[in-house]
Formats: sequence, C-alpha cells, structure tokens
Amino acid sequence: MRIEGKMLIGQRAVLGTNGSIRAIHAATGETIEPPFGGAADADLECACALAWSAFDTYRESSLPARAEFLEAIAQNILDLGDGLIERCVAESGLSHGRVESERGRTVGQLRMFASVVRQGDFLGVRIDPADSERKPLPRVDLRLRYVPLGPVAVFGASNFPLAFSVAGGDTASALAAGCPVIVKTHPAHPGTSELAALAVQKAVRDCGMPEGTFSLLFDSGRDIAQRLVGDRRIKAVGFTGSRGGGTALMKLAAQRPEPIPVYAEMSSVNPVLLFPAALANRAEAIGRTFAASLTLGAGQFCTNPGLILAVDSPDLDRFIEGAAAGLADAPAATMLTPDIRKAYETAVARTAAHDAVQAAASGIEPKTAHEAQAALFVTTADAFVRHTELHEEIFGAAALVVRCPDLAAMLALVESLDGQLTAAVHIDAADHPGVRMFLPALERRSGRILVNGFGTGVEVGHAMVHGGPYPSTSDGRSTSVGSLAIDRFLRPVSYQDMPDDLLPDALKESNPLALNRRVNGLMSLG
Ligand code: NAP
Repeated sequence: MRIEGKMLIGQRAVLGTNGSIRAIHAATGETIEPPFGGAADADLECACALAWSAFDTYRESSLPARAEFLEAIAQNILDLGDGLIERCVAESGLSHGRVESERGRTVGQLRMFASVVRQGDFLGVRIDPADSERKPLPRVDLRLRYVPLGPVAVFGASNFPLAFSVAGGDTASALAAGCPVIVKTHPAHPGTSELAALAVQKAVRDCGMPEGTFSLLFDSGRDIAQRLVGDRRIKAVGFTGSRGGGTALMKLAAQRPEPIPVYAEMSSVNPVLLFPAALANRAEAIGRTFAASLTLGAGQFCTNPGLILAVDSPDLDRFIEGAAAGLADAPAATMLTPDIRKAYETAVARTAAHDAVQAAASGIEPKTAHEAQAALFVTTADAFVRHTELHEEIFGAAALVVRCPDLAAMLALVESLDGQLTAAVHIDAADHPGVRMFLPALERRSGRILVNGFGTGVEVGHAMVHGGPYPSTSDGRSTSVGSLAIDRFLRPVSYQDMPDDLLPDALKESNPLALNRRVNGLMSLG
C-alpha cells in the first residue's frame, strides 16, 4: 500500500489542508516524503459525526462479527508486510527485530481481544430474578450488563509506534468494547500510522461495519487534538505519553459540560529494590541484567528501571560494578525523535551537575547526533529525600542508585515515591521477612510488583496490570495492557422488570448467547 499523506475519515482518504507534518528519519534526521496534511475543523466535524452515527449500529454488532472484525485488522496488518516494518524502523529508529516483535504483539493483542469478545464475559452479566414470595415486599427482577461508553479518542504513543498507536492496545480494547475510535496520530510516525489505519479501514469495509467505526486524523498543531477531546460526541480518551500532555488532556476532559474519563499512561521511575541476601549472593549478575534492561530500546519504555534502592554496603558496590561493566558494552542508541533525545540529554546533564549526585557509569559514546548514551548515577537516601527533583522520570537509558543506611530508611523512601507502573524486588529466601514489610507500601504505590526481574517486557495476558496511581496513570483502577483494558470503555446498565422480548440477548432468560452469568450472586456457566 502506498503512503499518500492522507487522513482516513471513515472510508475516505482526505488530504488535510491545515498545515502539515513531516516524517523524520530517526537515524539520519532527513525528511521522509510525503508531507501529511493536517486536519481542519471540517475534518474533525466529519470524523466525530461519522463516529457518533456508527455507534449504535457498531455496538449492536454480534459478538462473532466483532471478533472477526478484530481478526481481520490483525491479518491486514500482517499483509502490509515489510513495507510497514521498514517505514516504522525509519520513523522510530527502533531496530528491525524490535519492530517485528512489536508487530507480533499488536497482532496478538487484536486476536486476544477477539477471543475476549467471542467469550462474552466482558458483558459482566448479573441477574437477580424476581421473587414474588419475598416478605415483607416482593423482589423486582434486575438484570445488568456492561455497555460501551461511545466514541473514543486515541492518542498514539511515540515509543510503541505499532503496539500503542493506531491499531494498538487502546484502539483494540475500545473496538472490542463496542466503541468507534478516532485516532490522533503521533507526529513522530505519520507514515506508519497511515499504513496501520489503511489496515483498519479495509477491515471495516470488508466486515461490513459502519463507516464511522474508525477514523485517523493528523494534527499539525494541538488545536484539533484538544477540540477532539472537547467534542460532545467523544466519550473517553486513551493516551500514552508525557505527564504534561496527559495531565493537560485530563484537565480539558474534566472541564467539558459532560466530563469524560481520560486513561492516560504517563511517567514512572519503576523502583527496583535490592535486598541484602540477594545482593550478597549475586550482586554483579543483577547489575549486568539491570544494565541490559536499562538500555533495551534506548531506555524508551514506560517500565524502564530508573531508580535503584539498596542498603549501602560493599555488595551494593559490586552491583554498581556489574552494572558499569554491562553499560560499558552498551552502544549508544538512536532515540525516537530529536525532541525526546534533547529532553533526555538535558535531564542527564542536569543530574550530572547536581551537587548531591555522582556519576557512576556510562554507556558507549554516541557516533551520531541522533544517538544517546546510557548513564548511571548514585546519591544518598538523605539527598534523595531533600531533592524531590531527583524523583522525576528521565525518559531514556538513565538511572539513579540510592544508597540507604538501612532497610527502615529504604522503606521510608518507598513511602515518599509517587505512583508507579511497576516495582521490582530482588530477593533470596533469607530476604523474605524483610520484603514482607515492604509489600503494603509497594501495593499502595504500584500496579505490578515483580520478583527478581525488571518491568520492561510487559506480558499481554489476562492477569497483567499496566497501570498504577497518578502520575504513572490518570486512573489507577485500570490497566492499558491485557484483556482487562476493555473495562475502561464500558459502563454498567441495569434493567428492572423489563419484559423478556425487550431485553438484550445477553440478558434474556433463555441465555441465547450461552454466556457465563452471575445469577443470584452465583456464577452460572453458559
Ligand atoms: P507527549 O509530548 O506527551 O505527546 C503525546 C501525544 O499527545 C502527541 O500526539 C502530542 O502531540 C499530544 N499532546 C501532548 N500534549 C498535548 C496537549 N497539551 N494538547 C494536545 N495534544 C497534546 O509525549 P511524546 O511526544 O511521546 O514524548 C515526550 C515525552 O513524553 C518523552 O520525552 C517522555 O518524557 C514522555 N513519554 C513517556 C512515556 C511513558 O510511557 N511513560 C512514553 C512516551 C513518552 P504533539 O506532539 O503534536 O504535541
């Protein structure tokens, strides 16, 4: 398929007339053709009107038909072949292997949501049958199912140009829930976005879904994006990016006459806690695996391990030596965009110049102006408490080790941290009593607690939580990865004393969809 620089509004390809976006080759800085025309007011209006008119039809699509639609998107993405991979590598600077595995994840997520839709448990059916004999008053008949919220605006992520962008997790979970989607592309990968959008558009057509089920908009500034979030027909937002961007969209959504939920995945330093027995037994080895995790994908993961906490000891020095040895072999890596590289280098330079921080190790020096060098710093617990600027995420391959006087001081530091996507503990059997004291604080602060690992590498499954208290996300009650992500775009509706022929199929007495349902509080298998 050819990239034409066009938005996809329903089934039309539209060349935007409101300014333009240029794709940049991440590794060379060269402009890549063609230009992408930005959306004007009329394009936004058209996409929103189409999405709204599609909603009632799309949400009533049968579960098998919706599942087949998601599977068709997955197949169409695969059918894009090497063209998609090459364009994505050029626009993102990510390696060929990484982009291929990200495509696998994108396709896998769509197929997982297809199976979730087919099974139907997401409808959350509950039935409390009427009881005319109940004393002192008869009981009414109550039947509950979850319904989709309405059209969803999705902001593609810079760091996952496939798996968290146009046809990524937010889009897949919203479409699975029964919500039309309008994607505002990330300006760093417009060609990749157009290709992925063509795959979705074709699936809409081939599967006979209503035209407005999906649209893609380019925005040459921020006006259209903000008006998309403010549009009365948009009922939820999915976002991955900076704390500033996510928080701005949360405020916009809250100020609407009808406030709507924003599911923003933002910043996290993902603390790693090294316990004494684990350090005594394998400090260098942990240091080396940490260095590999820190530098994976140029450190541009929301789950990157940016903060190490441990009791000060010769064993901690051995961990730092292991990490330094790993980093010494770590090549500088191309970052996603010039702005992201600049932000990284500014933050690293500011940390290096900080009075309370020492540089401990660094990666191989960059060979080009588009690459960045990994960096490891060390500070004390006392300095970390006094200088809250050291708690902030550096997006890229940089981390800070905090030397704590004892486990009690380490626990106090954990209590001082913001909300996190992940927290990792490295422990051996002798550490179990110590780590048990930390678990309540780790649960309060993070969405996922890992043992003897690092948060990078997020499994897409049914028990995954990729979420956490603010500012790691805007709403710690949800996850943006895994099948539970569908819940973000649903709300419950209860039907009281409704005649059977008026009830939706999911709630009819004969259970024609063969759903698992909770009847009188007990699970009844379909
Ligand atoms: P970003 O600047 O937050 O942008 C993400 C998307 O939101 C882009 O499409 C952007 O459009 C849009 N946007 C941002 N602020 C907006 C606003 N006030 N109104 C309307 N739209 C807005 O994130 P990024 O470009 O991916 O990277 C910048 C920084 O974000 C990184 O250096 C890093 O610190 C952080 N980041 C964190 C994660 C994570 O997972 N934790 C992931 C990626 C990035 P425009 O670009 O056109 O403004």
